[in-house]
Amino acid sequence: MGVKDILVFSAHGADYCTRSGGTIASYVKEGYKVHVIALSYGAHGESAGYWKQNPQGTLEHCCAIRKKESMNAAATLGASIEFLGWDDYPLTIDETRQRLLTKRVLDIRPEIVFTHWLEDPTNPDHSNTGKAVVMALNSSSQLGALPDTPSHYYPNLYFFESTVPMSEFNQFSPDFYIDITDTHAQKLDAIAKFECQPHLSKYYIHFASHRGLQASVWSKSDIQYAEGFKRFVPYIGKTLPLTQR
Ligand SMILES: [Zn+2]
Repeated sequence: MGVKDILVFSAHGADYCTRSGGTIASYVKEGYKVHVIALSYGAHGESAGYWKQNPQGTLEHCCAIRKKESMNAAATLGASIEFLGWDDYPLTIDETRQRLLTKRVLDIRPEIVFTHWLEDPTNPDHSNTGKAVVMALNSSSQLGALPDTPSHYYPNLYFFESTVPMSEFNQFSPDFYIDITDTHAQKLDAIAKFECQPHLSKYYIHFASHRGLQASVWSKSDIQYAEGFKRFVPYIGKTLPLTQR
């Protein structure tokens, strides 16, 4: 069996790590290759720590710092990362950008994709990214998406946690829980790289505990930390999937 590829689309520099860092680390341990594409650095809207410490700072300097933080976090998880360098707040995706996302899907040909939930009125950059990824996957599964490149099947797409701690406002309820108890410490090491967002550890320790508790109740087992996902592509098989205990 060859190496399997996972592609993670992140609106801002830290989103992939906070919402799916534990799951990414678990997949890397299993031998998967995880590629992250960060559409923006989050310099305008998710870098308050930088602007607080550098009132005379520049956008260019902020982006450079955020890029470094995000690269260090990805390396801590064992993932590769690339940056599209688009602006954020607002993060808008026109036809040219949309086709680039399709091209990256066709270049990487992932088996699994993670990205943002489609309804996120508390952070439209996140939902804009989720919708663009659905379009890119739809497009890349069509013959002729890029006429000189073979199409790809529709990979298993999972939405990770919406803007934390606003899940209820965004109607996000997970239908998949991934037990990240074994990789939670590694995830926290990665989150610590985002020095411009010092609140992240507090938010995501809380949420991983919350999802872990829910997963424990459903499974009647002891799961300390979990990440929640919502599946987009229906499960197709000859028998139904079973919850692991
Ligand atoms: Zn974000």
